[in-house]
Amino acid sequence: MTLSDKLFIDGTWRKSASGRTTKLVNPATEEVFGEVEAADVSDVNMAVESAHRAWESGWRDMTPGKRTEILFNVARKLREHIEELGQLEMLQIGKPVSDARDEAGLGARCFEYYAGAVTKFCGQTVPVSRGGFDFTLRQSMGVVAAIVPWNFPFPIAAWKTAPALAAGNCVVLKPASLSPLTALKLGELAHAAGLPSGVLQVLPGSGSAIGDALVTHPLVRKVSFTGSTEIGRRIMELASRDIKRVSLELGGKSPNIVFADADWERAAESSPMSVFANTGQDCCARSRMFVERSIFEPFVEKFVAATKKLVVGDPTKTETQLGPMVSASQRAIVEEFLADARRRGSKFVCGGGRPHPKGYYLEPTVLLDVGKEDRCWKEEIFGPVVAITPFDDEAQMLRDVNASPYGLSGSIWTNNLSRALRVSRAVQSGVLSINSHSSVHVEAPFGGFKQSGLGRDLGMAAMEGYTEMKNVYVGE
Ligand code: NAD
Ligand code: MN
Repeated sequence: MTLSDKLFIDGTWRKSASGRTTKLVNPATEEVFGEVEAADVSDVNMAVESAHRAWESGWRDMTPGKRTEILFNVARKLREHIEELGQLEMLQIGKPVSDARDEAGLGARCFEYYAGAVTKFCGQTVPVSRGGFDFTLRQSMGVVAAIVPWNFPFPIAAWKTAPALAAGNCVVLKPASLSPLTALKLGELAHAAGLPSGVLQVLPGSGSAIGDALVTHPLVRKVSFTGSTEIGRRIMELASRDIKRVSLELGGKSPNIVFADADWERAAESSPMSVFANTGQDCCARSRMFVERSIFEPFVEKFVAATKKLVVGDPTKTETQLGPMVSASQRAIVEEFLADARRRGSKFVCGGGRPHPKGYYLEPTVLLDVGKEDRCWKEEIFGPVVAITPFDDEAQMLRDVNASPYGLSGSIWTNNLSRALRVSRAVQSGVLSINSHSSVHVEAPFGGFKQSGLGRDLGMAAMEGYTEMKNVYVGE
C-alpha cells in the first residue's frame, strides 16, 4: 500500500513549505512505518484562500441536484475503499481492524445521509403581523475549518466534512498529527469522485504549529472542532475576536447507571465495552459506573468476568477487541492516573499492567473505592480504566452524576419506565441511551452539555450549524 504523504491542496499533492515532516509509528509494533509532510502557516494561508475561491466560484451556487450527485459519488467511492481505509486507520492508531472497517462504513454512510439532506434542508415562510411575505434562507458560510482528533479519525472527519459540504461550504480539514492518513485518503477519494478542486483541502500538521493560524484566518467563517476541552477553550477564545462560529465536541466523563430492577446481567456483560472499546480512548466512554447497592457485588463479579474475556492484542486479527493505546505518551498519561489511584488506596479488581512486551498496550482496569475527589473519578482518563461505585439513593446518585463539569453521554439501565424517563431528564448530558450503550447515530444530534461542548454534530442539527439563517421580508 502506498501512503499519501503530502498536503492535499487544490486537488493536488503538495510538499509543505517548510519541508518538515511527521514520522508515523505503528502503536502495535512501535515501528516507524512512514512520514507525512507537516503543513506550516503559509500552507494554511494557501489552503484557506484556495478554498475560498472554490466556494465563490462554483460550490456555493451549484444546484442542489448536482451537489447531491457529487456527494453520493463520494460515498460510493468511499464504500469501494473500505478495506483500504480500515487498514490505514489500524496502522496509524492501532484500532482493531474490525472496528476500523465498521468506522470506514460509518464515514461513507455520513456522505450518503448528507447527500440526501441537501434537498431536504429548508427555510420557512413566516406569517408576520404586518402582512406581506416573509421567508428564511439557509445560506452557506464560506470556508469551514474542521479540526479532528486521533481517536476516531475517519468517521469524525466525515461527520464534519459531509454536512459542511452539503450545506454549500468549502472545508479545510486538519487531522491530528498521529492520524493524517485516512483524512488524506478522504481528500483524494472525494476529488476522484468528482468533488471540484479546492472544495476539500486536507492539511496534516501539528495543532500547535498551525492551529492558531487556521482558527484566526479572516476567511475562515466557522471552526468545527473535536478534541480536548483544553484546546476547545483556546479555540473559542481565538474565535471570539472575529465572532467566528464555533462548534466544539470535547471531553467527557460519562456515567453508566444500573438500577437493581434492570436486566443487570445483560448490563454487566455489555458494559465493559462501553468503556474499554477503542482501548478507552473514547469521548463517550462510560468511565463512572453507578450500581444500585443491592446488586453491587454480583454485578461487579460479572463485569470483571466479562472484562477478563476481552481479546486484547494484535489489531490485524479480526477477533481482537482491544488494540494498543495510540502512543507511548498517551499510555504514560493513563499510567499516571493509575499511580494516583494506588496512592489513594483504590482497589484494583483487575488490570493495571501492560499485557504485552511490545506495543503500547494497557490492560483494561477496574477500580473500586475511588474517592469522589480523586483524579480517576473527576478527570477524563482517556484510557481503559473504569471506576465502579455503589449507590443507595436515586437523588444523591444524580447529584454525584451531575457534579462532573462534563456532560457528553451516558447509559441508564432500568425496566421501570417512569424511572427511565425521570432519570434521563435529570442527567445533564447531550446524549443518553436507555438499556443500551450506543451514543452515535448518523441521523441524530450528537454533542455535549457543559464543558463537553457547544453545538451539535450529525443529524439535521449539523446542517443548521453549517449555515447562516437569513430572513427576507417582501412588502405588498
Ligand atoms: P486534542 O485537543 O489534543 O487535539 C485535537 C485536534 O486539535 C488535533 O487535530 C490537534 O492537532 C489539534 N490542535 C492541537 N492544538 C491546537 C491548537 N492550539 N489550535 C488548533 N488545533 C489544535 O485532542 P486529542 O488528544 O486528539 O483527542 C482526545 C480528546 O478529544 C479527548 O478529550 C476526547 O474526549 C475528545 N474527543 C471528543 C469527541 C466528541 O465528539 N465530543 C470525540 C472524540 C474525541
Ligand atoms: Mn491530545
